[in-house]
Amino acid sequence: MMTDGTSTQADIDRVNFLLTLRRRGISDQAVLRAMGEVPRTAFVSADLATSAYADQALPIECGQTISQPYVVAYMTEQLGVKPQHRVLEIGTGSGYQAAVLSKLAAEVVSIERYRTLADQARRRLNAAGCGNVEVIVGDGFEGCPDRAPFDRIIVTAAAEEVPAALADQLADGGVMILPLGPQNGPQHLVRITKSQTPEGTRLAEDRLIPVRFVPMLRGKAREL
Ligand code: SAH
Repeated sequence: MMTDGTSTQADIDRVNFLLTLRRRGISDQAVLRAMGEVPRTAFVSADLATSAYADQALPIECGQTISQPYVVAYMTEQLGVKPQHRVLEIGTGSGYQAAVLSKLAAEVVSIERYRTLADQARRRLNAAGCGNVEVIVGDGFEGCPDRAPFDRIIVTAAAEEVPAALADQLADGGVMILPLGPQNGPQHLVRITKSQTPEGTRLAEDRLIPVRFVPMLRGKAREL
């Protein structure tokens, strides 16, 4: 809203953006509030700013993508983040998902294999006032053992199976959401819930919606 009370196109786009998320079934008020607070325009390049509130994935540097807002909202809702939680994200990309999580959690650690993306995301997160996010360059398949355990883990690149290190770094009672499936085949989101039983650690797996993510690749990126 402008100070004179008139609405700009950007205000209208943001209202429509939240209405679209509600219509598609996102109902968690805290998630909708977080999605409303984070300016998606600040996480895409200037030439894409006018498309920032469209419900679509957009290209970012290094041949990667910022996920579709509905998928960001859906994964965040399914993750069930509480204010005291420490969250691990694999695949920082633009930093947008990390920014949304930062509004809901105590602390977010986000790992990206491209230094270029990590540096840019760090700048964007600082500019957006998300002081509780730490972006680390590394291989998400290894997670972040120094900072484990995490109450919640979210993976935003598709692996063929649940990375063992991430399951290890999930706290008891913790939840992990990740896309599983081949690079060019059907992928779906999976929710893993970790618990301790008399027989040992149990990882319960629920299959959620079909999705399309860039692949989770091993190692730090050799290019920038
Ligand atoms: N959450 C991001 C979506 C980024 S797309 C956003 O909100 O914009 C997925 C990202 O995962 C890409 O940037 C890709 O480089 C990164 N990625 C892929 N494999 C990875 C790995 N093993 N470790 C860390 N990051 C990885």
